[in-house]
Amino acid sequence: MVEGKAFTSEFDVIVCGGGPGGASTAAFLSDAGKTVLFLDKVRFPRDKTCGDAISGKSMHIIKKLGLYEKISKTPNAIVNAIGFSSPNGAYVRIEVPAKADGTKEAGFVCRREISDNIYFQNAKSKANVTTLENTEVMDLIFGEDGKSVIGVIAKSADGKQQEFYAKVVVGADGANSVVARKVGLPENDPKHWCLAVRAYYTGVKDVSDAIELHFNKKVLPGYFWVFPSDDGKANVGLGMLVSDVRKHKINLSTLMEDIIANDPLFKERFKDAKRVSPIKGWNLPLASQRKKSYGEGYLLVGDAASLVDPFTGEGMGNALTSGYYASQVINEAFAANDFSEKFLKQYYDRLWDELGHEVDISYNMQRYGKFTFLLNLVIGKASRSPEIREMISGSFVNEEARKGYTSPMFYLKMLFA
Ligand SMILES: Cc1cc2nc3c(=O)[nH]c(=O)nc-3n(C[C@H](O)[C@H](O)[C@H](O)COP(=O)(O)OP(=O)(O)OC[C@H]3O[C@@H](n4cnc5c(N)ncnc54)[C@H](O)[C@@H]3O)c2cc1C
Repeated sequence: MVEGKAFTSEFDVIVCGGGPGGASTAAFLSDAGKTVLFLDKVRFPRDKTCGDAISGKSMHIIKKLGLYEKISKTPNAIVNAIGFSSPNGAYVRIEVPAKADGTKEAGFVCRREISDNIYFQNAKSKANVTTLENTEVMDLIFGEDGKSVIGVIAKSADGKQQEFYAKVVVGADGANSVVARKVGLPENDPKHWCLAVRAYYTGVKDVSDAIELHFNKKVLPGYFWVFPSDDGKANVGLGMLVSDVRKHKINLSTLMEDIIANDPLFKERFKDAKRVSPIKGWNLPLASQRKKSYGEGYLLVGDAASLVDPFTGEGMGNALTSGYYASQVINEAFAANDFSEKFLKQYYDRLWDELGHEVDISYNMQRYGKFTFLLNLVIGKASRSPEIREMISGSFVNEEARKGYTSPMFYLKMLFA
């Protein structure tokens, strides 16, 4: 029984959550002529705790959405390189490689208040999308069989609960997804779940056009990061596996402030820095634990489907990509008039065909990252050898090359390089 029920509506698809995963799903579906109810529990623009780094993978879908120009012209910091430091303090800068035509595809660091709002407003502006902000999905509505999802119960800011019905419900409601929980998915294993904190600073010395990943001993196999942000600010944070946080009873905010104040690599750089935002933390459900992201009448995308890269912590690219595949399979489901679990499983299969290999490599790299001597070896050698820097740079665009880092031979070769 729904108290204070306002009205009942029927749509082709309900998309729960307006982050990159939900906004891409809604926009692609509307372009294909599907009617979409697009819900988010807050009003946009909104912040999302994040490193804000937009990778090439995100760009691929941003271009498909027709939003590249907009993203590249908003306040952001351009990324031309990635910097790594080893646990023993060596630092190497690796350039983003040039493409065959000699041009570079630089990445961006763009505050989520800005980038997510671009994706969100794009979806909201589509002809077939009905958007409700400040509207929180509270529960799913199941059909008579007790397992087919046929709608959602949502609560608006004034406390009114409403029922909405659709052929397919998409859970794009992030790391603490209500949709995932209501279809019975357990929370991630602490070994496949990362916690991260982030704050913005002004006055950090030597912030450049490189995103910096620092493999600090106290954070491994996670890392401490300093990313350039718009207006000369820096986006600073760190992330660790929940299993390690719990085992060693770590307070991530305290650890971050300790590194900034006392680590020889950062003490001087942060001497005149000022924190200009609170330190905020959030969850990263890692893709190293594959979750069932489909069922009778529903799909999950982005963090709700646990798609964050287990080595880099990047999740926007996979969220946008999953939105693309979800919309494709949903369109096909309408053409076949089949919204069964069996049909919708094609989404899971296609998504993992695309992401699986890369996620496996990243998971191996995360596990190798525990071995401090390997990071000291690779980063130390790379800081001295242009050939090794070039090899690593090539791996940014070549998955086969990246596989090398998970092979013992790679590290043996390093010893003699
Ligand atoms: C500290 C930190 C740093 C990170 N750094 C990076 C990075 O640099 N680059 C990168 O690519 N990724 C990064 N990530 C990961 C990235 O933030 C996520 O993977 C990405 O936001 C996933 O997008 P999404 O659309 O699935 O979910 P979200 O962006 O979380 O969006 C979910 C949306 O659903 C809404 N919602 C939630 N519950 C409900 C509900 N019940 N009803 C209605 N709406 C609801 C929320 O308001 C939100 O707008 C980082 C994550 C963290 C925590």
